[in-house]
Formats: sequence, structure tokens, C-alpha cells
Amino acid sequence: MSGSVKITVLGSCSGTEPMPGRHHTSVLLETASSLYWFDAGEGCAHTAHTGGADLLKSRCLFITHPHMDHTGGVPHLVWTFQKLQWVCRQSMKHDFAIFAPSVQQIRNYLSAASPTEFGEEMQKTKVFQVQDGVVYQDENLTVEALHNLHLGEAENGEWHSFSYRIRMVESGTVIVLSGDVRSLEDLQPFLRDGADLLLMETGHHDPLGVCKTLSNGVDDPPETLLFYHHGRKILADPEYYREACQQNYSRKVLIAEDGMSLFL
Ligand SMILES: [Zn+2]
Repeated sequence: MSGSVKITVLGSCSGTEPMPGRHHTSVLLETASSLYWFDAGEGCAHTAHTGGADLLKSRCLFITHPHMDHTGGVPHLVWTFQKLQWVCRQSMKHDFAIFAPSVQQIRNYLSAASPTEFGEEMQKTKVFQVQDGVVYQDENLTVEALHNLHLGEAENGEWHSFSYRIRMVESGTVIVLSGDVRSLEDLQPFLRDGADLLLMETGHHDPLGVCKTLSNGVDDPPETLLFYHHGRKILADPEYYREACQQNYSRKVLIAEDGMSLFL
């Protein structure tokens, strides 16, 4: 898969009660050498590992905001890295780091886990504060954060909720990941530059409305629109929405299932 990037929706659900076959929000981006995680809803480590990803290639986790449906899997993910290193008698291939709007929350999650096996190791995980602008770059990609209004305005200059734009170094492929947003307006600074893929949440938005707004209100709508972080509306009848959304969007629309992968 050299030169290409694989995107897998590990968990496609918003913050619902447990749903059959669907877990809370998490997206995995995979290159030949590295794994990058975007949000870590419960079950993300299990879905990625059993789906065939090599978790020892993990490099970063980017959190959009502190809600449970985006962070509940953090301690289990970090614990799984330790377990796999022990089971496989191999080390992580990279230094793993977490980027989060609330560093304290991640530290609390990890320190609450301290009585478990590997507890001490887990707490050595590096955690960095997310702010607007480029938060991370390496030889594969650049990750840029943009605050949104899902959790209201900034307090003391700190925003609580972010969207991300990923740009692949080699191919120039651009992926925008909404996280939870108040409206599509929040994403305008990213969308006006165009994108190959937009992962857009439906937990707080009518999918048909999103299709119409993007088709009519953006000069260059994303090549592929992948709905994720599903709310009750789309979950009530995904088949209906698959067809109706496509009729209302000028480019390609997909409705995420857990474990669904795309190659870009
Ligand atoms: Zn959410």
C-alpha cells in the first residue's frame, strides 16, 4: 500500500446507548509505516486489531473533543499497545503521542488506569495540547486543527472542540474530519480549499441537508462525502439515506459501517 492511504471507520456511532454492530467514534488512517488515530471511542483497539491493523505501527492519536463517545477507548488503546508489545516480543515502531483539547482528561484517564498491569508504562505516554493550526507533521502527513463551536466559545483563549485537516505529503490527498460541529459553517475555512474526502458527522445534522448545502454552497464540494458519527435519523433507515443522499449530492456519498475502509 505504499503511496496510498487507507482510512477505516473503526466506530461509526455517535454518543448513543450501545448499538448492535456499531461502536462509538474512531477513525484510523494507515500508511505503509504508520497508524494515526482520530478519536478513540470504546472498542477502537479491538476493531483495529481484529481487522488486521498492526497496532505497533501507531504513531499519534488526535482527539476532537473530550466527550465519552470520542475518548472512552483511550486507556484501553494505550494498554493494548503494551499488551501487544509483550505478546509479540516487539517494541512500538514509533514514539506514540496523543494530541487533545483537554490534556488533563487524557492524563486522568491514564492515571486512573494505573493499578492495572502496564499502568506505569501507560502513564509515560506523551500528551500535547491541541490549538488552531498545524499540530503535527512527519514524512507522511501534516495534521491541522481548526476549532469549532460544538462545545461553545473559547474560555481563557482555549477552544474545547476541533476539526482536523490531513494532507498527505506524497500524494497531496486532503482529508477533512469534522469531529462534532455546530454547523457546516464551522468547516468553511477547510472546505473552501477543496478536499478529496470529508468525514462528516450526522449525530447533530440532517444528512440530506448536509448534501444540499455542500452541493449548492461550496464551490468545490468534497470528492467523497463519508457520513459517520451516526445519529438516530440515519440509523433508523441507512438504506433510504444512502439513496436519498446520493440523489442530493453531486459527487460520491458513503454511509459508514464499522470496519469500512477506503483507499485514497
Ligand atoms: Zn460525539
